[in-house]
Amino acid sequence: MADDGGHRTPHGGDIVNNKDMEAAIHTRLREGVIKLYELEKELSPLDAIRIRREYIEYETGTKLENLGIFSIDIDRVVKRNCENMIGTVQVPVGIAGPLLVNGEYAHGSYYLPLATTEGALVASVNRGCSAITRAGGVEVRILHDGMTRAPVFAARSIVHAKQVVDWVAAHTGELRAAAESTTSHGKLIEIVPFVAGTSVFFRMNFDTKDAMGMNMVTIASAKVSELIAQGTGARLVALSGNMCTDKKPAAINGILGRGRSAVAGVALSHDLISEVFKTDAPALFDVNYRKNLVGSARAGAMGFNAHAANVVAAMFIACGQDAAHAIDGSTCLTTVDPTPSGVYVSVTLPSLPVGTVGGGTGIETQQECLNLLGVAGGGNPPGTNAKKLAEIIASGVLAGELSLLGALAAQHLARSHQQLGRG
Ligand code: NAP
Repeated sequence: MADDGGHRTPHGGDIVNNKDMEAAIHTRLREGVIKLYELEKELSPLDAIRIRREYIEYETGTKLENLGIFSIDIDRVVKRNCENMIGTVQVPVGIAGPLLVNGEYAHGSYYLPLATTEGALVASVNRGCSAITRAGGVEVRILHDGMTRAPVFAARSIVHAKQVVDWVAAHTGELRAAAESTTSHGKLIEIVPFVAGTSVFFRMNFDTKDAMGMNMVTIASAKVSELIAQGTGARLVALSGNMCTDKKPAAINGILGRGRSAVAGVALSHDLISEVFKTDAPALFDVNYRKNLVGSARAGAMGFNAHAANVVAAMFIACGQDAAHAIDGSTCLTTVDPTPSGVYVSVTLPSLPVGTVGGGTGIETQQECLNLLGVAGGGNPPGTNAKKLAEIIASGVLAGELSLLGALAAQHLARSHQQLGRG
């Protein structure tokens, strides 16, 4: 370990000086006596990670020394976040802000941590933050809150399918009690049925408080599904029937909402548009109309925005969210309304699956980013931290949208990428 605190050398472990022991483990790995994923049964997590990495280096002839450089608490991570671990990748984190946020949960100025390798992104979001803050801040609200899991059942006939739906409607109280027996925080809000021939889906919607909630609702849904199968004779085919819909672009999430649904908006004056973005209100309106609305419609896109996924992904990675959920976050609708004094720009994000407890939120580097936003851990009352995080992310998305719309309207996009992304 480097003494400058920079952790410049790969981590060792307890048996780093016992070469015989290491050689014996490598031999057993090569002979298949022990599997790579079984190393933690015999070794400390640090040793297991190092030996596994060395084995992969040997087998593939690839040097992986930088993967072995990290500062996070591995004991916790190997138990909760990652199997068969060989190290970490480092993603640069930039700061955009301050961004003045006027939400129901987030009030004040925030510096947004953005984990990205796209040059020009942080600078662009920073410019959007500056414009919004000068305009008096972003207004932001949570419209809907609920994480879903939708198991699929096979009925014997369409008549049976309808009976299954009716049975669930008649037993909702009992099913709710069963679901909530599995969690001290989760609350079952509703069970929405969908039928397709003999397939019956129940989209179960939970208040997951400060957790993003996918594990929580999956465990609760398993309990409910067992009772539905027993009570109706329908066969549980899969605990996730894709009507949830998790980590796939899906209209249902955009329409009904999934995770936290947030909307953010800001009024920009003619002077501000001219000073910050070097363009004018009609040009901003035109770019949004022809690109985000007409272009997206013509392309059959599900997101009607400029690059919402950029800010969602960068903040999700920095803040320990599940990065695959950037796909849900990308179904954002951006609007530009002309007003007598300039424009009112908004973003609507129907599906932001975010949490401030559980998942990757406890990893030290990610937790520092959550701390920066004042949202690490459970909120008081529970649920308020996750909603605050969603409000801040939606505000950051607005900053990103504004800046890119402005750059396009002023015909500056290629120039800034040339200057900032290719140095
Ligand atoms: P989790 O880490 O599995 O569980 C979080 C737990 O924290 C909750 O269940 C709750 O326990 C507890 N908790 C403590 N304080 C809380 C508070 N203030 N508010 C809410 N809960 C609180 O996290 P998760 O959010 O359920 O799931 C996230 C993980 O699921 C991520 O790692 C993600 O990658 C993964 N994931 C799973 C699936 C899947 O199908 N299972 C799909 C996609 C992603 P109690 O329930 O006991 O109250």
